[in-house]
Amino acid sequence: MSLLLKNVTHQGEITDILIENGHFAHIAPNQNTFSAQVLDCHNKAILPAFYNLHSHAGMSIFRGLSDDKELFSWLNQDIWPREAKLTPDMIYLASKFSILEMIKTGTVFFLDMYFEQQEILKAATEMGVRTISALTGLDLFDAAKTKAEKEKIEKYITCPYDNKELCRKGLMIHAVYSVSEDLIRYIVKRAKGENFYLTLHASETAKEVEDCLQTHGCTPIEYLNKLGALDSQTIVAHAVHLTDNDIALLARKKVPLCTNPISNYKLASGLFMLQKLQKAGCVLTLGTDSMASNNNLSMLDEMKTCALSAKIQSGDATAGCAEDIFAMATVNGAKAVGLDAGVIEEGKLADCILVDLNNHFLVPNYNLISNMVYSADSSCIDTVICNGNILMQNHVVPGEKELITEIKKLSNFFRN
Ligand SMILES: [Zn+2]
Repeated sequence: MSLLLKNVTHQGEITDILIENGHFAHIAPNQNTFSAQVLDCHNKAILPAFYNLHSHAGMSIFRGLSDDKELFSWLNQDIWPREAKLTPDMIYLASKFSILEMIKTGTVFFLDMYFEQQEILKAATEMGVRTISALTGLDLFDAAKTKAEKEKIEKYITCPYDNKELCRKGLMIHAVYSVSEDLIRYIVKRAKGENFYLTLHASETAKEVEDCLQTHGCTPIEYLNKLGALDSQTIVAHAVHLTDNDIALLARKKVPLCTNPISNYKLASGLFMLQKLQKAGCVLTLGTDSMASNNNLSMLDEMKTCALSAKIQSGDATAGCAEDIFAMATVNGAKAVGLDAGVIEEGKLADCILVDLNNHFLVPNYNLISNMVYSADSSCIDTVICNGNILMQNHVVPGEKELITEIKKLSNFFRN
């Protein structure tokens, strides 16, 4: 199907953009095509959509359920006992709800890691977004669990799913404090064997690094590297507490890092060393983490926090400039997961948002990227397009009211 974006503002100029077969086909003014659906984009600017490189979509049902706690007591007391009650159907519904929020805030891709990842594949397919759905390995050093986790991984690798154009499978190592060496080695071997992307939480808290130094005599990054887990197809989430040696290693191996500043703020985990990592040549991307630790999935909020965090961490107001932060949320994220997207150019995948230039958050408009990073909220995003398909138009995602009703109902189950 073809789509013609008529009179759209692109890099300050009004033009037409033809989308064909999921790609930007032609960018030039005064185009006319009778076979395309035409979208009037008067007073709207086109920008790349967002790529969220760290989420746990199934956790949306836990939004606001437990806040203001330190990471390990939050996980042990509130999250893990409730996760034990989640059924595949609940994860499917909660994931759809997360995806709804992502679309409403301009995101078209998420790198997700949780349990029952086939449900996330199903939810993403129905909602029309891109995903890499990474099954989490987590055995808590219990040999019986290690065996069960390996079986789960094999089952996931072979399970069929529908939309291979937009959705891919991946694997995840939960963290060095929750996964045995045996299971880490197994996950690495299977991910490489299947050419899957791998992801993991690492160096999120100072305690995690101290414990790892005591147990293994090296940092989590060094330990994961020793086990063969780090390369350009492994996205490392958090990466807050890094040594100079860790940074050199991550830069040399071109390991994409995904910072989650709001989650790190909320759990008091620490500040990502954005400027230092950038100078070292690291690949930097952005993610929201889950609705349980954020508590929303807006990449707009994440960009602003990321920019402010970089300045405070470095003591330098020039750190984390708007253009770099916007690139982290768009083109860097897309590239890190092998997508030829994240910029509005002929030949690139047609993932984009249309923002309303009459929205008060975008006025005056001296610099649209600055406005998007420092000023905008989701009310600025009118339309979301993924792979050439319209997912949201005039702020409306089809089926959103019904989905909200279902989530309200389900939340009663977790209330106590
Ligand atoms: Zn996480």
